[in-house]
Amino acid sequence: QRAIDPTKYPEDDIQEATVRPKRLDEYIGQDQIKDRVKVIIEAAKARGEAIDHILLYGPPGLGKTTLATIIANEMGVKIHSTSGPAIERPGDVASILSKLQPFEVLFIDEIHRLPRPVEEMLYSAMEDFKVDFVYGKGPNAGTVTLPLPPFTLIGATTRLALLSSPLRGRFGDIFRLEYQDIDSMAAIVKRAANILKVGITDEGALEIARRSRGTPRVAIRLLRRVRDYAQVRADHLIDHETACKALDIQGVDELGLDEVDRRILLAIIEKFDGGPVGLETLAASISEEPDTIMDVYEPYLLILGFIQRTPRGRVATRRAYDHLSIPYPESKSK
Ligand code: ATP
Repeated sequence: QRAIDPTKYPEDDIQEATVRPKRLDEYIGQDQIKDRVKVIIEAAKARGEAIDHILLYGPPGLGKTTLATIIANEMGVKIHSTSGPAIERPGDVASILSKLQPFEVLFIDEIHRLPRPVEEMLYSAMEDFKVDFVYGKGPNAGTVTLPLPPFTLIGATTRLALLSSPLRGRFGDIFRLEYQDIDSMAAIVKRAANILKVGITDEGALEIARRSRGTPRVAIRLLRRVRDYAQVRADHLIDHETACKALDIQGVDELGLDEVDRRILLAIIEKFDGGPVGLETLAASISEEPDTIMDVYEPYLLILGFIQRTPRGRVATRRAYDHLSIPYPESKSK
């Protein structure tokens, strides 16, 4: 597994559970969302109601699951977690819904992957707090209605565009989580180091932050790997030099790019003359999955301004040439 891949892996699970913030004031960055969430929670509490359904979207590893858990904690209620692919039939979702107590939170990760009949059952659950079952066939068919307590659905997705508009329309608030800035990332690294009881200097934390692609999950994983290095090579302290050395060994450069990012950029520049090149062709040329490129690598390369997406495909920018120390062709400057 690659150090900078923001997807969750089993090795992440154990550590994330210990460092995962539990209250809103421990959740670093994403200030606008935090302010809004505070108001929503206070208002719901004052009215004695469940909070309205919330949709969280943004790239993986930015803290959607964490935020959902925090919202439930702040409301003082239980969170029931599941995911789109785990719910196969309407019966599955009905059984989850029937266990909900008033004001509790149902968290559905990857909500864009819900099968259509399940999604349709959610419409009335979200809007009217009830679900209808149809039983039997033909003249013997009938409907039973299962009333539900007021609850809050929190959906998370990395692909807002894949969500149907009727489902999207049933969320009261839609929040887009952003890549975190360096200062917030450094604070996340320091907080996690503290909990994991690892010695770290400000410069050490900043270096890990700089190479973590604005993604808390990546920062925490890199911290763990630097910690291992510090333990055997640097007397347990993560300072700037130790962080740099450990991350260089991991193949993560000073901007957080790894081997695959560099192969993508090199392929566009060398094999396709700087682009444009289509995603499928590009993926095939470096033996990676198109989806992996789109979800894991491309978002960050776009943020850095190293590639651009055009109607005819991906193009490498001058910045990418500069980063790889390849002269930018004069023919492209015109
Ligand atoms: P995915 O969509 O892949 O599940 P996610 O966006 O739900 O990702 P989380 O699992 O919530 O990501 O967060 C990843 C890790 O980063 C967690 O261990 C969490 O502790 C940490 N983290 C995320 N956001 C913050 C934050 N704002 N402050 C402190 N730690 C954070």
